[in-house]
Amino acid sequence: MLQVNESSGDLLNKLEVVRVLCQETGCAQRYLGHDALNGIAQAVARIDDERGSTEHRARFAAYLADVQDRDIALGVAMTDAKGDRSKKPHQQANPDTYVHVVSRDAKGIVISGTKAIVTGAPYMHELLVMPSRNMGREDADFAVCCAVPVDATGVTMVSRPAGRPGEKNEHGDALFSRQYGQSTAVVIFDKVFVPWDRVFFEGEWELSHTLTYSYATHHRHSCIAARAGFGDLLIGAGALMCEANGLLPDEKSNLREPMVELIKIVEGFYACGVAASVYATQDRHSGSFMPDAVFSNIGKLLLATQIYDMHRLAHEVSGGLIVALPGPMRITTRPRRPRSPKCCAPTPTCRRTSGSRWRASWKTSPPPTRRAGIR
Ligand SMILES: Cc1cc2nc3c(=O)[nH]c(=O)nc-3n(C[C@H](O)[C@H](O)[C@H](O)COP(=O)(O)OP(=O)(O)OC[C@H]3O[C@@H](n4cnc5c(N)ncnc54)[C@H](O)[C@@H]3O)c2cc1C
Repeated sequence: MLQVNESSGDLLNKLEVVRVLCQETGCAQRYLGHDALNGIAQAVARIDDERGSTEHRARFAAYLADVQDRDIALGVAMTDAKGDRSKKPHQQANPDTYVHVVSRDAKGIVISGTKAIVTGAPYMHELLVMPSRNMGREDADFAVCCAVPVDATGVTMVSRPAGRPGEKNEHGDALFSRQYGQSTAVVIFDKVFVPWDRVFFEGEWELSHTLTYSYATHHRHSCIAARAGFGDLLIGAGALMCEANGLLPDEKSNLREPMVELIKIVEGFYACGVAASVYATQDRHSGSFMPDAVFSNIGKLLLATQIYDMHRLAHEVSGGLIVALPGPMRITTRPRRPRSPKCCAPTPTCRRTSGSRWRASWKTSPPPTRRAGIR
């Protein structure tokens, strides 16, 4: 996750590893840092080439080596609060709706402003601050790209808790999300000092759209793999629910067809990720590899529109129980006496339907994987 792509093979490897991680976790989260590092590598190389300098490349290379040595988790603080969407950053009544440079001196810069949605912010080590849109000359102070430790003076996070906010955990935490939950945060920067060795660029307003474009292309490629891993979870869960109902999808055509449809959707957009890797292009400034933009965008469009069909199909093969099942609280509560109604007893082929057994099975058996699943 801390690698700048040196070949299209690196992109294929990233695709595979993100998919496998998301089969386990639902969302791997750390791939955002990879996408940002790759976008910044391209941006700083372009600045140097246009100016005939080498300092931006050198500064980024030193930072990259440092984060690899420390193996730290990087969050992406790109999406600004944005305020009035019809206005550019410098036209906003409140300049803090976009992160911007407040002052500069020999030691570094001072930034203020708000980034709106930062995945994993509270448990990252550092945030990569990047411009979120194209900008004009008057927006130069808003074109800032730098790295900030999450505990830097002046950083405040308003965080959405992981799991299901508002849910009462009267008998323990949510089983899945206490381990794999995703938190997001609004991050407020109030006069935060950033030393020059952590500033990748500032003031280069012409570069802001280049960085958002390259970051988005890398990120859409990663999203394809992430949603494929999540799709694998749905495929495995759908197959398990069929078995729990005493039916085998490969024997019943009314179940086989939606399961095949589910697999077709997942492998369909994943194929776009493979194509984007194979047709990757080498950036002429940085020498690094970027996924093909058309296949990355088509894959992202397919997954973002078909995600609803994926849920519908998983629901179709599973029946109403998946929306009517008791929540984690009930599953962790051992009944005083076993008294499952006979009509809800586990079928001979599947013994996962009683709460305590389900919990034991959840803890001891590996999650359904692409290879161990229905395929
Ligand atoms: C689960 C999740 C995780 C995320 N993680 C991160 C993260 O880690 N880091 C990060 O930086 N971001 C993250 N994001 C933010 C994501 O990139 C943004 O949500 C996305 O870019 C849209 O921005 P927005 O939410 O401000 O919506 P807006 O840009 O406000 O869009 C809302 C609507 O208004 C329309 N609109 C906006 N501006 C205009 C205009 N000028 N003219 C006409 N129509 C307009 C849009 O088309 C859209 O329909 C995450 C988002 C989600 C949902």
